[in-house]
Amino acid sequence: MSDPNGQQQTILYIEDDLSSQILVQRLLTFAGYRVLVASSGLGGIDTARASRPDLILMDINLPDLSGREVTTRLRALEEFRAVPIVALTAQSQLGEREKAMAAGLDGYLTKPIDVDALPEQVAAYLLGKRDEVDPAALEEARTAYSQEIVTRLESKIRELETAYKDLQRLDSMKEAFIQLTAHELRTPLTLIYGYGQLLQNSPIVARMMLESDEVANLITNLLEAIERMSSVINEILLVSRVASGRVELTISALSPASLVEDVVENFRRASETRHVTLQTDLEQAPQRLYADRDLLKLALGNLIGNAIKYTPDGGTVTVRVSAHNERALLMVQDTGIGINKDDQQLVFERFYTVGDMALHSTSKVAFRGGGLGLGLAVTREIVRAHSGDIWVDSPGRDEEKLPGSAFTVAIPLKGRLASPIRRPGVS
Ligand code: ADP
Repeated sequence: MSDPNGQQQTILYIEDDLSSQILVQRLLTFAGYRVLVASSGLGGIDTARASRPDLILMDINLPDLSGREVTTRLRALEEFRAVPIVALTAQSQLGEREKAMAAGLDGYLTKPIDVDALPEQVAAYLLGKRDEVDPAALEEARTAYSQEIVTRLESKIRELETAYKDLQRLDSMKEAFIQLTAHELRTPLTLIYGYGQLLQNSPIVARMMLESDEVANLITNLLEAIERMSSVINEILLVSRVASGRVELTISALSPASLVEDVVENFRRASETRHVTLQTDLEQAPQRLYADRDLLKLALGNLIGNAIKYTPDGGTVTVRVSAHNERALLMVQDTGIGINKDDQQLVFERFYTVGDMALHSTSKVAFRGGGLGLGLAVTREIVRAHSGDIWVDSPGRDEEKLPGSAFTVAIPLKGRLASPIRRPGVS
């Protein structure tokens, strides 16, 4: 069927019962309408907003929201104030029609569907027909309907509260499990590391290492692998401790410039191996900062390590320190592959890594070689424990054009501030 301008009219049918969907779709398509179907209340709202139908047929008993609630929601939107919404429902008890009208429906058709009459009924509503109800009964239905909504809201809030408590319990069980597992792994690893060093230092092995490059490589690789594993376990332990608020800061007055120089020195070899220039700009650095030296070194080290890791050979990593609004700003800027806008929040989440991990782990590209996706999560927790803030700026990810990334950490110069810190320029 078409409107006065000759346009085919669209009917949206919101109904979860498949056989009703098929029947109505057939009937109305045959009558010349374009028919869309949604199987839930929320889905119906989305389809309605996206397709702007000329009329909506509404089941009342839907799996999520009721047909009445969907109508009330749609009526709140300017574009649906005048669109006919008609119930097509099995509910025929006394008072149901009035309750539907109180919710904003224009008509009430009951099932079983009258196959012969439906197309004409729809056409009549499209032409402006509205069901009449007794005003007193409508008023009573309005009160009943608002009470129904408040009761449902209350029970939903209670359900959410219970679900939230369950989640909190599961979360603390998970943290306890992580802590326990990591501790259990660390104990034998410490022993293995000890034995490895004994092996390396034993005169017989030392001689064999001198005589054979193969033996030397085996021992060195073994110790390196153990160190890597131990640092992964320590990261997991730290992030889980920080995440559950169990990190104690040892705050002291420190010079941000010398802290940066220390960390940069630790990465000197790594950057040279990768032919990445590692430079600092400390001219604007504030004199003093009150922070936990070791944790801040770890946080900065993660950023510099990443910057080197995600910058191809020949690139540059710059660590810049300045002060702004009573905060020290530590920025690690690289000329690497960059990070897409969509990922810029997510990279700080635990176990979030960008791109193909298989590619990372096989190190097909020399400059990458991903980790567990914990480094930035640890860094953010450390920064937050200092009442600080961390963010990344990057035009996007492009492995050819290398747009680069800049991670900035902002820490209050005078230790923890009571109020949360805002990123400069962002309200
Ligand atoms: P990972 O141990 O995998 O490096 P991180 O938590 O440190 O984990 O980083 C998460 C992800 O963020 C990385 O997998 C990487 O894809 C991306 N990333 C981090 N730093 C940079 C950077 N400087 N340039 C481009 N991508 C980065």
